[in-house]
Parts: sequence; structure tokens; C-alpha cells
Amino acid sequence: MRSRLCLAAGAAAVWCGAAISAVAAAALARDEIGLALPAEESSERPALLDLLRRSREEIARAAGVPPRAMRVTVHPTVESFGQATGQSWYSAGATRRSDIHLLSIAVLRRNGQLERVVRHEVAHVLIDRSLDDRPLWVREGMAGYFAGPSEATNQGFPVSLRCPSNDELRRPSSREAQRDAYARAEACVAREIASGVLWRDIGR
Ligand SMILES: [Zn+2]
Repeated sequence: MRSRLCLAAGAAAVWCGAAISAVAAAALARDEIGLALPAEESSERPALLDLLRRSREEIARAAGVPPRAMRVTVHPTVESFGQATGQSWYSAGATRRSDIHLLSIAVLRRNGQLERVVRHEVAHVLIDRSLDDRPLWVREGMAGYFAGPSEATNQGFPVSLRCPSNDELRRPSSREAQRDAYARAEACVAREIASGVLWRDIGR
């Protein structure tokens, strides 16, 4: 069974339906956040919008970039997330340009990931355009950096630190391999920042 999704644009209109196409089709005003939630999570709308706005404001200020409009789709099931993004079941979020896809709020909250995943994906919307020509570890590491402190960056940087290849990040062979690749991307970025490189210049 396919769960319904509802999209609210601004305060005025709400559409419900098969939804993911509705989100894609809806035009957004300059700094609007379009949010599509499964019907069963519609009560999460105010809190999630608040988290999205707060994350966008903080990261935009820290990065020195303008806030951008974004479309956010929360998926009712892992299958729906996978179909929309092509990502494996162990990914929690995915972003392409201004479109963010998330697993259900209940799943993210259960794993204690909600805030970090939202901040990570919002960071992609804000900074990826400035890093288009860099290896993937720069974009993933920077999104992790702006998402907030994590174990990867609290442990210092081993001399042998090897930044992950695009393939290691895009097509990890397991959840552990994915976690390891992302941790190394974050550590590589944190090492650059600690040595005084500006985020826009990393990996040039
Ligand atoms: Zn990412």
C-alpha cells in the first residue's frame, strides 16, 4: 500500500496524493521550504519546519552563503526512499540540488539521527554548488562538518588518513563501509580546516 503524502506550500495550500511528483512540480518562492510528509507524520510538520529553518539559518551564516529555497520529501517507507533516490537502505537522507529526501521522522528519531541528518542534507543544498568540481569527499565531509561535531572529527587525524574515493562514498559495500568512508571524509575536511584552509578552497 502506498501512503499518502501531503505538501503544504507556504501557509495556504495543501495537496495530498502520490505526492513526490507534486513536490517536484511545485514552484518555490525565493527562500521557501516545501515540505511533503507522509499523512501519518503530518503532526511533525511544525517541528520539522522549525528544525529545517534553524539549520538553514545557522549553516548559511557559518558558511557565508545566502539561504536557499528547498523541497523536502519525507518518505513513509525505506522502499519509497530507495525508489526516489536510488540510495541503499542504510542511507538516511539524500540531496540533489535543492531537493532533500529523508527517511521517516520516526526512523530517524529512533536512531537518534534526526538533527544531524537534517543539518547534513540542508548543508548540501547550501554549499554543494560551490564545490561542484571537487571530489565527493569534499562535499560529504563539508556537509558532515556543518552538521556538527561527530566522532570522526573528535578523534584527531591519524597520519595514515586516506580520503575516500568517489566510489567508496557512492557505492559502499556495506553499512560499515559506508560509515567508515563518511567518517574519513569528515576527518579529511576537518584536517584541512584545522590547517587554515577555507572551506571553499578544500580539494582544489
Ligand atoms: Zn551527504
